Amino acid sequence: VVIVGAGQAGFQAAASLRMEAYDAPITLIGEEPSLPYQRPPLSKGFLEGKQNVGNVELRPDAYYRDHKIDLISGSEVIRINRANRSVELRSGQRFPYETLILAIGSRVRKLSVKGAELDEVCYLRTLDDAIRIRQRLETARDIVVVGGGFIGLEVAAVARSMGKSVAVVEAQSRLMPRAVAPVISDFYQELHLGHGVQIHLATVVREIAAGQVFLSDGSAHKADLVIVGIGVLPNVELAQDGGLTVADGIVVDEYLRTEDSNIYAIGDCAQHPNPFAGQSTRIESVQNAVDQARCVAANIAGRGEPYRAVPWFWTDQFDIKLQMVGLSGGSVHLVTRGNPTSRKFSVFYFKEDRLAAIDSINRPGDHLVGRKLLAAGTALTPDQAADERLDLKSLQQQA
Ligand code: NDP
Repeated sequence: VVIVGAGQAGFQAAASLRMEAYDAPITLIGEEPSLPYQRPPLSKGFLEGKQNVGNVELRPDAYYRDHKIDLISGSEVIRINRANRSVELRSGQRFPYETLILAIGSRVRKLSVKGAELDEVCYLRTLDDAIRIRQRLETARDIVVVGGGFIGLEVAAVARSMGKSVAVVEAQSRLMPRAVAPVISDFYQELHLGHGVQIHLATVVREIAAGQVFLSDGSAHKADLVIVGIGVLPNVELAQDGGLTVADGIVVDEYLRTEDSNIYAIGDCAQHPNPFAGQSTRIESVQNAVDQARCVAANIAGRGEPYRAVPWFWTDQFDIKLQMVGLSGGSVHLVTRGNPTSRKFSVFYFKEDRLAAIDSINRPGDHLVGRKLLAAGTALTPDQAADERLDLKSLQQQA
């Protein structure tokens, strides 16, 4: 097996193959020079200096030797030769495969305004990016964060906790608009404002110049550091050049196989049929990367499993943990359980009266039950969700 991409998905595919007792050679090829690492801490504890490189590495060096995983770091795969089943590195080196797993992830969307190329403008995706931002945070005083999604808000919370002046600029009319309901966006807006973060909604950056960021609402902000988190784009070019079908990602079937039965795609780059979305979709999350890797390893080991893991996500900002389960997009009926003013509440999302997702703020119990209810397809009505006297665990037990 050759695995292209040594992020969370690629690493997990190699590790799970060995756990499946797959004993043929495994080559794991990564573009970055480091050992495979976890991304979630990069916008949280790592930036704050609570974690170091060693803490974020998924396994130490010895793991790869001990498990006979041939890790090729700092190498870019530039071509897939499907006719002779091999991949080619920029260096010209070739690796033959019997099965190829594309775990090539996504890359940051770039800001395209005047001044975007300036040195004080940073993106956060890789370990090197995080190291650079961490260094800049030591001396920066005024920070403009572009994008009010997960990256932007997690970074804003860290920078504000360090006492920096922070302004967040979000193009949409509310925070984290793609992921959560307005009630949760409003809660986070209050949270950030309460901590002294300035927020500009329905606003974009017009220009960055000599220590200042000019916004579309006519305001200007002093900034010695600009951190941009405006989403990611799936890496599809390698697959496309290899003649595979791509849409919003590399198109795979329910077994995560491309139209070439020897090639799989997993993680951020894979557009897959998802039972919780009710359609083909692409999911950018650690859970999806890990579970798709496990699914592919099981398939290669001969256990033929379709992918149907329950999607879940989380974000930590200041002292608040938001846990999300299911896919809320397209939900029409929303029910709140608990009270936002108590800083402990959940939003239940329903599509055609079926539970689609739950977002929980400081209510881990709702999240954990939600994972089980969604996995089992247990019926829950909006009235039951709203009724605090009903113990959700009892429904799970009945099921
Ligand atoms: P997100 O898509 O979550 O958020 C980016 C936000 O920026 C969107 O609301 C987007 O609006 C907005 N935006 C786009 N262009 C501009 C602009 N020019 N000016 C101002 N705002 C703009 O992406 P992130 O960058 O926050 O995160 C990148 C990836 O990392 C995502 O896959 C995310 O899920 C993942 N991640 C997950 C975390 C978690 O689960 N806790 C933590 C950190 C990252 P629009 O929709 O209009 O483009």
